[in-house]
Amino acid sequence: MSDQKTFYITTTLPYVNAEPHIGFAMELIQADVVARAKKLQGEEVFLNTGTDEHGAKIYSRALEEGRDVQEYVDEYAGKFRDLIGLLGIDSEYVHFVRTTDPHHKMAAQEIWKRCKASGDIYKKNYAVKYCIGCELEKTDSELVDGRCPIHPNKELEVREEENYFFKFSRFQEPLLKFYRENADFVKPDFRFNEIIKFVERGLEDFSVSRLKSKMPWGIPIPEDGDRSSGDEGHVMYVWFDALTNYISIVGWPDDMARFEKWWPVIQFAGKDQVRQQAAMWQAMLMSAGLPTSKQIIIHGFLNFAGQKMSKSLGNFITPQEVIERFGLEGLRYFVCREFNQFEDTEVIWEKLLEAYNANLANGLGNLVSRIMTLAESNLGGPVETAEHEDMSEYFAILNNFEINKASNYVWEKMGLLDREIQEKKPWESKDPVVIAGLVVKLYSIARMLNPLMPETSVKIKALVKNNKKPERPLFLRKD
Ligand SMILES: [Zn+2]
Repeated sequence: MSDQKTFYITTTLPYVNAEPHIGFAMELIQADVVARAKKLQGEEVFLNTGTDEHGAKIYSRALEEGRDVQEYVDEYAGKFRDLIGLLGIDSEYVHFVRTTDPHHKMAAQEIWKRCKASGDIYKKNYAVKYCIGCELEKTDSELVDGRCPIHPNKELEVREEENYFFKFSRFQEPLLKFYRENADFVKPDFRFNEIIKFVERGLEDFSVSRLKSKMPWGIPIPEDGDRSSGDEGHVMYVWFDALTNYISIVGWPDDMARFEKWWPVIQFAGKDQVRQQAAMWQAMLMSAGLPTSKQIIIHGFLNFAGQKMSKSLGNFITPQEVIERFGLEGLRYFVCREFNQFEDTEVIWEKLLEAYNANLANGLGNLVSRIMTLAESNLGGPVETAEHEDMSEYFAILNNFEINKASNYVWEKMGLLDREIQEKKPWESKDPVVIAGLVVKLYSIARMLNPLMPETSVKIKALVKNNKKPERPLFLRKD
């Protein structure tokens, strides 16, 4: 067996009821940045992404559009799979799971059986308020003016039916104990405090099935030996099904060697996902006798025109729109440095344009052009560059999932290099030792850019290795 370290990271699975928007593109790029950094440090990496394809919202949308549901989800799954190429995600380690995959369905049924065997799944009658936008039951304390604060334009449904429930209430103490023992389980801290407070207030059991007669688009609950109880009449609640993807994609339950190779996982997720990822999912794992996730990294929302982007609100920016204006490297730059990683960001086109011109066209682009113009005309050939120079300080920031901070670190290095050029005036002295020193530092910057902006990194390295100035600017100024 190889003793190479393994690293497993995942995004959440977006729900396939709309085109991919820039918020999810941000999450996938963030995960790729960390994954690339781990790969550069010699670890074997597995990056999971995919699509969440069951549930009432998808079922009703497909029906509204007069579509066959499977054909509908196939089309959307294709659009999300296309993000891998579009966003420059490293194809060597990325995996794409669909919750309609047969292996995933089998895994979801198996975790159901394990939770039931632990006594954590039971049947009862209930009436709840349900937000079809979130696909979540809402307690009164979560509502604002009787409406879901995330979907104020959607009516809440009141539902009454006999369903299976998951004994979430039993996990209050185990979760709190787990949080105490894993002081950085959720990052950032203020999100961790939010979920600790939520669990401390007491947990309510949640329903984990839906009547097939009302909503057949889901994974059938597994046979429990009591046909007379009509259990064939339920499908699994979409969250219970979808959360299982994090273990099904790495081979659980039938390929335990593969599962043990990768598990536990680092999960990237949005701020509306804290409860599901950090509490519900961890309780499910505990109930099934499985080890918990390793860490949950929560990002803020990208807002546009004052609200979270959503199709129903019509304030939707696609990653394609940003790439058309600023290129893929422009988009990755915005994600890494201009969008707040942990807080919300108001996306303003003019600000993106300013940042692009100041930091890419002028900043990085100019720096490369100045140094390599001096090098090409004053050095006899390519400079010796150290590929094994110590980058541990930089990697430590990325290993701690601090993408904004890592990007700022690189731009600070660029600032220092700029200042050194001003001070040493190599265009006057033409001193080859000074110029070679600048090239070596530029090469380090290219190496640090590798996880953030891989194409740019490759371009700069090639210029250094060939001792050539760029034929055209790396980033064209835009108006
Ligand atoms: Zn909602």
